[in-house]
Amino acid sequence: MNKLIDGKAIAATIHEEVRQEIKRIGGRGPSLAFLLVGDNPASESYVRAKKRACALTGITSILRTFPSSLKEMDLLAEIERLACDPSVDGVLVQLPLPPYIDETRIMCALDPEKDVDGFHPLNMGKLMRGIEGGFIPCTPLGIRELLLRSNIEISGKHALIIGRSNIVGKPLAALLMQKREGGNATVTVAHSHSQNLSSIARSADLLIAAVGKKGFVTAEMVKKGAVVIDVGIHHSSEGICGDVDFAGVAPLASHITPVPGGVGPMTIAMLLKNTLLSYKRRVMIHPDEKT
Ligand code: NAP
Repeated sequence: MNKLIDGKAIAATIHEEVRQEIKRIGGRGPSLAFLLVGDNPASESYVRAKKRACALTGITSILRTFPSSLKEMDLLAEIERLACDPSVDGVLVQLPLPPYIDETRIMCALDPEKDVDGFHPLNMGKLMRGIEGGFIPCTPLGIRELLLRSNIEISGKHALIIGRSNIVGKPLAALLMQKREGGNATVTVAHSHSQNLSSIARSADLLIAAVGKKGFVTAEMVKKGAVVIDVGIHHSSEGICGDVDFAGVAPLASHITPVPGGVGPMTIAMLLKNTLLSYKRRVMIHPDEKT
């Protein structure tokens, strides 16, 4: 099906680009620290996949695991230590954190220059203001990259994002409305209080589902010829599926992402790109590290 946007293949191309660029730059190579708190199996599996991708592209990964009894102040101390370590280019705190740890306080404690997930308020603010040079969250960045590399027109289109989380919906809205290539969309953001969602959805040229509800987007919500991007990930006994009822929606869509193999691999590819970006900025500031 040529309407299928093959995120796995596009991500593999980006992995190779990152690998080549790391080889070309030389030096110690980029390094990325993962902070994993507690024993959430999904988080463990995401970190494993990210570490594997790092290893294949020449990024050194450092894994710090902590029991769920970890005190917030100890996590803050580790973040501070990694911020001061000149050999570390990126620091990623795997979410979600245990409920007693204040996620906002942790995100604010990250060094914005090592915040390769783009969740620090300074990086989120730069994205909102359209200031170049910050880090952009990996999932929204990966979605824009998927659209650009699939030659899908974004400018002037009505993009509906279902979901307003800090990691997907909000930054994606900011990205798609930017005054630059890959932006200039007319963006609507829907959430659990939105009314007449089906009718809004039927007017969308580009529909992005980040709801966290299996099969939420059905054929009745999709305009013929729309581009449908499925961010959702749901594990069940039948395997992995997304927020979109793929079988019902695919015949209507001009392009659609599968789950798995759509947005997920792009999130990891963008993490590699952001880490490489951080490394490049660092070796340019400290040229001695090239040797
Ligand atoms: P989240 O923080 O739970 O946010 C879900 C959003 O959906 C909220 O804004 C919520 O509205 C909205 N929502 C819930 N029910 C709704 C309804 N009936 N109608 C309209 N909107 C509704 O989720 P998230 O972290 O953004 O993740 C969303 C999904 O993407 C999850 O399945 C997650 O696993 C997946 N994900 C995938 C990747 C990837 O790499 N592929 C990355 C991140 C997340 P309110 O704000 O009003 O509550």
